[in-house]
Amino acid sequence: MVAEPIDIENAAVAPRFAMSVDVEDYFQVWAFSDVIARDSWDGFAPRVGDATRACLDLFDRRGTRATFFVLGWVAERDPALVREIAGRGHELASHGYEHAKVTAQSRAEFREDARRSKEILEDIAGAPVNGYRAAGFSIDGTTPWAHETLAEVGYKYSSSSHPIAHDHYGDASAPQTPHRPVANAGFIEAPVATTDIFGRRVSCAGGGWFRAAPYALSERLIARAANNLDGPVIFYFHPWEIDADQPRIERASRKSKLRHYLNLKSMPAKLDRLLARWPWGRVDAALGLGGAS
Ligand SMILES: [Zn+2]
Repeated sequence: MVAEPIDIENAAVAPRFAMSVDVEDYFQVWAFSDVIARDSWDGFAPRVGDATRACLDLFDRRGTRATFFVLGWVAERDPALVREIAGRGHELASHGYEHAKVTAQSRAEFREDARRSKEILEDIAGAPVNGYRAAGFSIDGTTPWAHETLAEVGYKYSSSSHPIAHDHYGDASAPQTPHRPVANAGFIEAPVATTDIFGRRVSCAGGGWFRAAPYALSERLIARAANNLDGPVIFYFHPWEIDADQPRIERASRKSKLRHYLNLKSMPAKLDRLLARWPWGRVDAALGLGGAS
């Protein structure tokens, strides 16, 4: 694997801070997958449309452009949402079709899931989809074929690596900055943000960490990442993280519930501060792959 940082085209104008949203519904999260079967998803009343529109409104107020990694399953059921995301100036990208971890799929299954979700999104939006994010940041050392497969089906980049030690995901030995993991191909892997402090690697990429930590600490860590990383700081969150009124999944484990429902109410205000603090742009623009910043 080539771990050297890449030269980002038009680096002088590329955003240093990239905002991203993983568009999935509250019942599709990996932490609940042991108590909610995939074939029961259609039995839940969707909330992802309204929650995603709340994200779009939050971004509009701060003039933020972002990348939305949308599940193919969601896109099929709510094509108007997909068109609205693109129409409001954001990058449309794929979060796969049915939120299966890459590590739980064969190469052929992964290829079909990645191809299918790209095709669905492109058909709806009428524009190419270049970016991909794996469910649960599940591209790691055990899936050496994943990046090559994504390049084969036509993606230009992936933001599927979370280079940190964590019980659900992550690969602490993976590079922290954008790199080209496929030999003789321009394909880029752009990991979400981490930083090293007191000899320890910590995440400052968003999601549950951002909800758990006091805002001031998150801001300090992100500023540190911006200084130290040779590439953009990529942040992520989910629409369900700003939806405090979502129905509770009582049968989930205590640990999963603790993580999922932590500080949902304070999330919109924290995000708003973060959006005001730095000029956030789309992931494609941050990687010099075009796209309005
Ligand atoms: Zn996800």
